[in-house]
Amino acid sequence: MEQHENFRIKSRISPQFDPWDAWHTRLAKGRYELTSVEFTVTNLCNLRCEHCAVGEELVEREGAAIPVELLIRRLDEIDTLQTISITGGEPIVSPKVVKETIQPLLKYAKSRGIYTQLNSNLTLPLSRYEDWIEDLDVLHISYNYRDVHDFHRIVFAKMGREVDIKAAETLFGRMKENSRALAKAGVFVSGESLLSPFTSQFIDQMHHDLVEMGCARHEVHPLYPSDFARHADLISLEQYEEAIHRLLEVRDPNTWILFGTLPFFPCSDDRQHRGLYTQLHETPNVTVRQDPDGRNRLNVNGFTGDIIVTDFGDVPSLGNIHHDRLSDIFDRWLQHPLAKKYHCYCEQAKCTGPNILVANAYYNNWDFTKRSAEGLVKIV
Ligand code: SF4
Repeated sequence: MEQHENFRIKSRISPQFDPWDAWHTRLAKGRYELTSVEFTVTNLCNLRCEHCAVGEELVEREGAAIPVELLIRRLDEIDTLQTISITGGEPIVSPKVVKETIQPLLKYAKSRGIYTQLNSNLTLPLSRYEDWIEDLDVLHISYNYRDVHDFHRIVFAKMGREVDIKAAETLFGRMKENSRALAKAGVFVSGESLLSPFTSQFIDQMHHDLVEMGCARHEVHPLYPSDFARHADLISLEQYEEAIHRLLEVRDPNTWILFGTLPFFPCSDDRQHRGLYTQLHETPNVTVRQDPDGRNRLNVNGFTGDIIVTDFGDVPSLGNIHHDRLSDIFDRWLQHPLAKKYHCYCEQAKCTGPNILVANAYYNNWDFTKRSAEGLVKIV
């Protein structure tokens, strides 16, 4: 494979180096830069999970995708690019999408030394992952189940028809086996749990399942009531705190735990919340990711070409890759009133402010532009 003129040697992804974390660039450059692009490459999926973030957009058939050459041309214009994420739907469900969009994107990223992540439900036959997986850095899965009965209820929740438990048994078993097999072959599998009042009760068991499935990392986020999950109960801060403590007690110390969209801040008036934030930073093999959405990432719809900031659902499309450069759009986004509203920054506390879903769900009455962790928390 020909090496790109901007090729950079990659470091190993680890708790010390998470290239998706918005923290590194903000610290080094004193500003946010576009380092990450996420592509929605399909709206097809074999499941209809109750936690699906794009649920309403899922389709049974879809039209022609934007030629991958245009996607790559737009990536080529971004000098600061470090990571690419590929999402859906289920990106692997259509062999055509794999061949015509995913494989070329992964090859391009590899030639340039760009880190890649693909979000999959991992329920398709193993052979469907084999042709291209060696070019991928992170295989991201969602795992929110105690057993096959939870899986059956959760992943077919929005199917619109009854699905036999036997189908769930096959898919649940396959997901676990695929994860073990791919991890054994050296793939970095990252399992994400979305905490709700229901799932948080079983966080310890879900953690041990993911360890047993060979996952190198367990990602933990709150489940926000949006899209298919819009009627879901939001986990309270007390329940969340309790789940974190239980997880830290029973965790496998060799498995990296990443807390994303964490709803606790070092400028909190609550001493316990500040203590928890500090504790997570001091625990080996545990990290708190500063959220890429709104800080270093744009999302491109692979069909319409629309460019959005994921999670900022109220912000209309900021442009379209048919006629806009992604860096120009990102610069425009940094001037947007919503970006400014949530781009607070406390260097000593290693905090870049809230994800908008966190702010809306828990801190509606906070003005983040007026808050500070100065004198409250110092992360060394
Ligand atoms: S960066 Fe924002 S959210 Fe974080 S501690 Fe400072 S003021 Fe609070």
